[in-house]
Amino acid sequence: MYDYRMLIDGARVVGEDGHFDVINPATEVAFAQCTSCSLDQLDQAVNAAQAAFKGWQHSTHAYRRECLQLIADDIERDADGLARLIVAEQGKPLALAFSEVMGGVAWTRYAADLDIPVELVEDTLAHRIELHRKPLGVVASITPWNWPFMIAIWHIMPALRAGNCVISKPSSLTPLSTLRLVEIIARHVPRGVINIVTGERGLGGAISSHSGIHKIVFTGSTATGQRVMQAAAGNLKRLTLELGGNDAAIVLPGTPVETVAEDIFQAAFLNMGQTCAALKRLYVHESQYQAFADALVEIAGRQVIGDGLEADVNFGPVQNRDQLELVAELVDDARAQGGQVLCGGARLDRPGFFYPPTIVTGISDGHRLVDEEQFGPVLPLIAYRDEEDALRRANASEMGLGGSVWGLDPEQAQAFASRLESGVAWVNCHAQIQPNTPFGGSKMSGFGVEFGLEGLLECTGQQLLYVRKRETV
Ligand code: NAD
Repeated sequence: MYDYRMLIDGARVVGEDGHFDVINPATEVAFAQCTSCSLDQLDQAVNAAQAAFKGWQHSTHAYRRECLQLIADDIERDADGLARLIVAEQGKPLALAFSEVMGGVAWTRYAADLDIPVELVEDTLAHRIELHRKPLGVVASITPWNWPFMIAIWHIMPALRAGNCVISKPSSLTPLSTLRLVEIIARHVPRGVINIVTGERGLGGAISSHSGIHKIVFTGSTATGQRVMQAAAGNLKRLTLELGGNDAAIVLPGTPVETVAEDIFQAAFLNMGQTCAALKRLYVHESQYQAFADALVEIAGRQVIGDGLEADVNFGPVQNRDQLELVAELVDDARAQGGQVLCGGARLDRPGFFYPPTIVTGISDGHRLVDEEQFGPVLPLIAYRDEEDALRRANASEMGLGGSVWGLDPEQAQAFASRLESGVAWVNCHAQIQPNTPFGGSKMSGFGVEFGLEGLLECTGQQLLYVRKRETV
């Protein structure tokens, strides 16, 4: 079994706290081992990053741009191998894993090309005032298991571009593609600028409370995000928290079923539903409720379920046993409360964490499957009579990541969408993200944004430079 090592201060090192297995979700077989970082080794990584920061923070923009472009070139060259590694650890079908890698390339190149502006606030005879942006120091990246490679890129590349040094901590369920990514990055930046530590319980908490770390970019569940925020208070770490979501979509009456059903299905079941901004609650007018249910069941029936490396498979397993059990529990609860499970609804009788695409009708707000984030391959359909009521119910969630409104009349749909209480509101689409559009949640879905110039600036602190002019002294 290949032993994956950490990277601290440019050296590949074995963790001092033992090993843990990485399991292929399509087979349930452990196929790799990682080592667990000790607290001393975490200190070494932080010290290395702090030492490297002394030089890296003063490197030129042109140099850092060049580093990121070379990293992107190498990722692109290794795209097939990286995609296969993502399938093995995460479970998604190969084509989707390949798009995760190529998305990572696009995000890296975008971060490379961004300018970090100096804002001229005022220039008068008496003084000149400029707002400068400076790197923060050591940034830690803590990532989840659903899009392990791409989310690591989202965290790491803007941090490096802005002149910070980074400590990456991937999910212990999916550490391998991030380890490979860090190996690539390390070829192109000075020693200590990038470090990666792996481990299971406790390591994330130790990072969150470490006094040598200045910012944490965290993507994961709301509950863990709250723990990170508490632990980070000691030295007032800057935080970007991308947390859970329970995105609602409202289909306005008269929306042609055949035109939107496929897009709605894909938005709900993207990555087997394990996507933060996937569509997780579908509100449909009662006049079209059955028609939408029928169309979605038909599409679900066309999915080819299996190991993501097999040809033609477009629907993989759930990533881990705990998540599989949560999905099964929520569907069983809906069934027990009188919901109708129109397709799927039970784990497949074969090795691997396979749960087929599942459509549930006959439930409403107040049922766990509607109120909680399922983060898996099941979509509840909720009937409504009055659009205002649907909007009120969509907004009743404590989450506020994304939301969408679908309709024939774009102006009406946009007017409704702008009243969603969410960080992103989509019209006639859902879960659309791209490198140049700031993305982030509201309410309990977190704060701060990634992507775009706004995302890059979150990796910086401000310094106001106030220059009194000589002739006035
Ligand atoms: P999780 O919160 O269980 O784990 C996320 C990361 O935090 C992992 O690396 C984990 O090891 C680490 N961690 C665990 N305990 C910690 C602690 N006390 N302190 C610091 N770090 C700790 O989340 P998950 O199960 O890996 O991911 C699923 C969740 O992530 C879902 O809720 C999903 O909606 C959310 N998510 C959000 C976004 C977004 O952009 N908003 C994107 C992807 C996933």
